[in-house]
Parts: sequence; C-alpha cells; structure tokens
Amino acid sequence: MKVCIDAGHGGKDNGAAGTTVAEKWIALDVARRVAEKLRNSAIEVVLTRDEDYFVELAERANISNNAGADIFISIHCNSADESARGTEVWIYPGEKEDRRLAEDILRRLVERTGFRDRGVKEENFAVLRLTRCPAALVELGFISNPQEEQIMKTFDYQDQASTAIVEGIKAYAGISEPV
Ligand SMILES: [Zn+2]
Repeated sequence: MKVCIDAGHGGKDNGAAGTTVAEKWIALDVARRVAEKLRNSAIEVVLTRDEDYFVELAERANISNNAGADIFISIHCNSADESARGTEVWIYPGEKEDRRLAEDILRRLVERTGFRDRGVKEENFAVLRLTRCPAALVELGFISNPQEEQIMKTFDYQDQASTAIVEGIKAYAGISEPV
C-alpha cells in the first residue's frame, strides 16, 4: 500500500496565520511525523513536499496520481475567529469511500487530542477532486484560536495527532497491527 501525505501550503504560501506560527509549518511538522510512522509500519509514503516550498494544488494531485497512491491525506489548520475550535475532515461531495476514510481518521483524532469533533464535511476542493484515490483533507484545529495554536505547536499534540491519522489510515485499509 502507498499513501500520499500532502502538507498544506508552503513557500510563498504561508496558509493561515497564527500569532506565533504559520499554518504551513504545523502542516509540515505533522505530515513528516505521519510519514515517519507510516514508514515504521512498512507502508510506502509519498510526500507532496518535505520542506518549505510552494507546490501548486494540481501538482499535489499529480504527485499522488503518478505515484499510484492508494490513499491521499492533506493536512491543514483551520482559521476563523479567536473562539472557533475543533477538528474537521473534508471530503469530495458524495464519495462514500472518502467518508469512511475521513470518519476513521476524525474519530481517532478527537480521541487522541481531545479537540472538539466538528464532523466530516463535503467540499469541491481541488486536491480532493483531482486525486484518483480515496482522499481526505484534515483541518487539525484552529490556528486563529491562540489556545489551539499553542497546543498544535507542541511535540505531544503532534505525536498524538500523527498517530491518530496513521491509525485511521490503517483502520480504513484493514491493517491491524498497532502504530
Ligand atoms: Zn490550509
């Protein structure tokens, strides 16, 4: 099995701004940890970026499609007002396989991080539309909420969140050994 991990934004595209860190850095940190844990489970990984550089949305899907990935996971942080909080996972509208994947990941993220469960949501995002395999876009938490921003920067949070994402991927794929 091969999994494509997509760290949102990068390079000139900072993503959403927190008070001390930009979205692109948390996305990259968590993506790297997910990749490491997948590789430790002998699952092949492709990263759309492994450093701080810009990648077009269509190119992210191309990387996944060209690699023949079986699962695509995009990692982001949310942004709204200071009080918004919680985790949500986005899928392409009406895709049943995407929904199963998203639910497997979201449930474990909520259990492991204690962040509020905002549910699985549907949207016609480019990376979800253009990828040919089951795909989900994870909004870890709100970087616009100073409390969630602080938590998402910590080793402990990133370790738990990445473990949850890997557990969700393995549950979806029917792989049973622990992370
Ligand atoms: Zn984003």
